[in-house]
Amino acid sequence: MPELPEVETTRRGIRRALRGRRITEFVLRNHKLRWPVDRALAKILPGQRVRDVRRRAKYLLIELDRGTLIAHLGMSGSLRVLPTDAPWLKHDHYELRLDTGGCLRFNDPRRFGSLHWVTGDPLEHPLLAGLGPEPLDRGFGGAYLAGRARGRKVAIKQFLMDQRVVVGVGNIYASEALFRAGIHPRRAAGKVSAERFERLADGVRTVLGEAIRQGGTTLRDYVSADGTPGYFRQKLFVYERDGQPCRRCRTPIRKLAQGQRSTYFCPACQT
Ligand SMILES: [Zn+2]
Repeated sequence: MPELPEVETTRRGIRRALRGRRITEFVLRNHKLRWPVDRALAKILPGQRVRDVRRRAKYLLIELDRGTLIAHLGMSGSLRVLPTDAPWLKHDHYELRLDTGGCLRFNDPRRFGSLHWVTGDPLEHPLLAGLGPEPLDRGFGGAYLAGRARGRKVAIKQFLMDQRVVVGVGNIYASEALFRAGIHPRRAAGKVSAERFERLADGVRTVLGEAIRQGGTTLRDYVSADGTPGYFRQKLFVYERDGQPCRRCRTPIRKLAQGQRSTYFCPACQT
């Protein structure tokens, strides 16, 4: 699944290609994504200029003259900048044609991606309104996490992956950040000390920041905006390393199930 670093990498790639350009045509091959794509976009979008491409959580916000497209990559989606005459591939669902002669095309085998058009404040759209702070923004830190966790019995890993607490901390990054902070993934959120919350917030910023710098690297089959494949370039401490020695203390990494997801941790380093 594209996680926050892949989405941010996509944003940077498509922003370069789209910003300031005018949309000449919207081609919808298949409107059946996670939610039906509005066919009226073929009339609404042409002629509008792209003012900017922003991101909120894992949503891309393509700001046009008269509103905003809210795009989500779903489980398996990718947005690529291509020449308009590039042949359509299986699972290509929509395309924004630009006055450059290029286009932005969306491919998504599993069709969990989405595309919405809003004319008001996109941050007030129901998909975005209840989301927690961005992990790389100033509002996020140890004190904030400690405040939200007060009295909570939920496991810290699930707390950290709750989008209402903080957005964009997916399974890989939650495991890695907890390792960096030395916190056992099953510890009750309300029982984590203020000091360890500071380390945890630092861990989240570090793992996401590294991944973004490396271009979004969590997916072996991930394709970036310019079409180049991404690989597992980030050095991971625990994720998918069960049975292998901890990089710090050599204790074998363990795996456990939490909320249908696998969690990886070092039983010696994390308490
Ligand atoms: Zn260890």
